[in-house]
Amino acid sequence: MNSRPDILHGQSLRALNTFGIDAKATAYLRVAGLEDLRAVRNDPALTAMQRLVLGGGSNLLLTRDFDGLVLHMTNLGIAVAGETEDHVLVTAQAGENWHGFVQWTLQHGLPGLENLSLIPGNVGAAPIQNIGAYGSELADCFHSLQIFDFESGEIRTLTKQYCAFGYRDSVFKHDLRDRAVIVDVTFALAKRWQPNLRYAELASEIAMRGIASPTAKDISDAVIAIRTRKLPDPAKIGNAGSFFKNPVVSAEKRNALTAHHPALVSYVQPDGSYKLAAGWLIDQCGWKGKSLGAAGVHEKQALVLVNRGGATGADVLALAHQIIADVAQGFDVMLEPEPVIV
Ligand SMILES: Cc1cc2nc3c(=O)[nH]c(=O)nc-3n(C[C@H](O)[C@H](O)[C@H](O)COP(=O)(O)OP(=O)(O)OC[C@H]3O[C@@H](n4cnc5c(N)ncnc54)[C@H](O)[C@@H]3O)c2cc1C
Repeated sequence: MNSRPDILHGQSLRALNTFGIDAKATAYLRVAGLEDLRAVRNDPALTAMQRLVLGGGSNLLLTRDFDGLVLHMTNLGIAVAGETEDHVLVTAQAGENWHGFVQWTLQHGLPGLENLSLIPGNVGAAPIQNIGAYGSELADCFHSLQIFDFESGEIRTLTKQYCAFGYRDSVFKHDLRDRAVIVDVTFALAKRWQPNLRYAELASEIAMRGIASPTAKDISDAVIAIRTRKLPDPAKIGNAGSFFKNPVVSAEKRNALTAHHPALVSYVQPDGSYKLAAGWLIDQCGWKGKSLGAAGVHEKQALVLVNRGGATGADVLALAHQIIADVAQGFDVMLEPEPVIV
């Protein structure tokens, strides 16, 4: 027998999104475990509502009050789940803070996630856009995850192949959108660990520190130092990290652009296409450090939109649309927002 979930009405989401946007939820529930999700599904009035699964709110732009049910994932726990010949399997509950989890793995002598240190948000959201940074992405160390399927009411285990991870992409943005709540995630951490210094800025930070054979902790410390220097702290100025994905274009398109813009920053991809640095494109359009109303573009990072104080989601969206239009006009390239727009 399920008890009635403890729903709050008119809850402010301001402290629950890193943009610091002041929006309210018609209904709000702190989800401590599966029993809460089952109770929601067994309640016809709640099931009929639109749902928003919320983690750390660091990849969200709230453009209005949310007329539905916010399921705020707060389930906690980290445990070694087993091992294979080559890997240790570690499972973390969705509500665990991502950076806290990465530090837990390092403290327990389980390297592999160090390049993803200090990414804000929770473990349960990390697979949604296959978080990535400094030459690594979640998919590199992913084993499997469990979802609560709101359609069937079942718990399902999904493999890496099923999750269809891509660049800031996964099945959760497509077939399983609005249907799956990620409950926990299991990582496969290699027993024979090798440092990943593919990202040039990270390699030079390690070299600058005079470290010849870095440990995973050294790499984590270097990533933390670079990120702290480069990215605005949401506790000080509201933001959701990179607001745009780096657009991927064909080699022909990239060569045509380079002919007109020799300084274009681009990175060749394994399939021969090119990823363009969206921050460079935005900077070239003169947006770095500029504002439109209370929303602005960060002074150091043109890819990061910020709330300069009291911005609404609509203000941020208006700025984003203006930037998209300018980049399209200047380079014939369409930028796509990275955060989920609600
Ligand atoms: C300063 C800063 C730097 C950042 N740097 C990076 C970076 O380097 N690389 C990177 O990839 N991202 C980065 N981000 C973006 C963000 O941190 C990640 O996308 C993170 O994984 C979002 O986690 P969250 O818990 O805050 O998700 P939320 O913002 O709460 O949610 C994001 C999306 O996931 C869904 N969701 C959340 N939890 C679940 C769940 N348990 N089940 C199903 N759906 C769920 C939500 O419904 C929403 O659609 C950065 C953000 C900030 C503010």
